[in-house]
Amino acid sequence: MDKIYLDYAATTPVDPRVLEAMLPFFSDSFGNPSSVHRYGQRAEAAVDDAHETVAAVLHCRPDEIVFTSCGSESDNLALRGAALAVRGQTGADRILTSRAEHPAVSKTAADLEKHYGFRLEWLEVDEFGRVTPETVERALGPDVALVSVMYANNEIGTVNPIAEIAEVCRRRGVLFHTDAVQAAAYLPVDVEALGVDLMSLGAHKFYGPKGVGALYVRKGTPILPVQTGGGQEHGLRAGTSNVPYLVGLAEALRLTAEERASRAAHVRPLRDHIIGAVLESIPDARLTGHPAERLPNHASFVFHGADGNTLLQLLDTAGFACSSGSACKTGNPEPSEVMAALGLPRAWGLGSLRVTLGAGTTAEEVQAFLFSLPGLVEKTRNFNRR
Ligand SMILES: *Cc1c(COP(=O)(O)O)cnc(C)c1O
Repeated sequence: MDKIYLDYAATTPVDPRVLEAMLPFFSDSFGNPSSVHRYGQRAEAAVDDAHETVAAVLHCRPDEIVFTSCGSESDNLALRGAALAVRGQTGADRILTSRAEHPAVSKTAADLEKHYGFRLEWLEVDEFGRVTPETVERALGPDVALVSVMYANNEIGTVNPIAEIAEVCRRRGVLFHTDAVQAAAYLPVDVEALGVDLMSLGAHKFYGPKGVGALYVRKGTPILPVQTGGGQEHGLRAGTSNVPYLVGLAEALRLTAEERASRAAHVRPLRDHIIGAVLESIPDARLTGHPAERLPNHASFVFHGADGNTLLQLLDTAGFACSSGSACKTGNPEPSEVMAALGLPRAWGLGSLRVTLGAGTTAEEVQAFLFSLPGLVEKTRNFNRR
């Protein structure tokens, strides 16, 4: 059998329809959108269209969308840009974020504490990795510059109650950012319904290209640019627009919004089958993340006494591409920070496995995976006992 890809949370292939939309902007319509001539005008029209397409999905204004180079950059711009601007205006210098965030948020918040003098406070998560609105409410105060809580967790699939958390922040007049990079493939990203002030997206998690992201910035939100230069992206992100890539992000997001329900309906039963079969057939296995409030394509587990990295290698040899959490963590012998935040002891936390499905996943692939997995888990446990 061919290689079987079960790692859609790490990245997705570019949808052929997205690629087709991008291609003309590499060669025919290659102009610089800032140029006055017609080459420039054509490129500028494509950039304007991309803003409008994304704004239509997010239910916001086109000038509230800032294109960036990736989800990580969107997170950086949101945290650094808003924290510095708010502190400049009001003196508020506390940042609240959860212990289960992607490093693009947690490391940025830690950097703001270490090098820019902000006070960083970690919001605890429950056993499913969820941040509750009550936890946020208790930590809020007039000295808080920004709250950042992810929409859906990349490692454990848990979905946070973002609208409720945003409401708590709004009542206290505190800015709220959500990292929706992992969520956008399956969950609604209507910023009015969610009530967020800032929201990060990354195209390669929803069948768009790598190397392009977007940040929603609600009109009137205090924010400073992180990258200065030309006045691109309403002065918030300097640099000649990556026209083909932002066209690709817009088309990928448009298709995702249109096909969201059918994509979820395809993966959910396969995901449920994996969770049921793994918990039934493998001893000392636990589901990580929330049993119900989780992304429909996301299954994640810990196996007591197993080594996650060894398991990934055995799976790869057997033809299955999975992850033990965040792709950035591979090779790190410590349990991930998310596993630690869940309160899992080391003997459980080291044996994590993430299985994420997508448009290309078939029932036969899932069957083959479920047939192979129990023996491979047992094998890593035996390695560890030696
Ligand atoms: C993938 C991911 C990111 C980083 O996005 P890039 O486009 O790869 O920089 C940030 N946050 C979450 C939750 C992610 O899943």
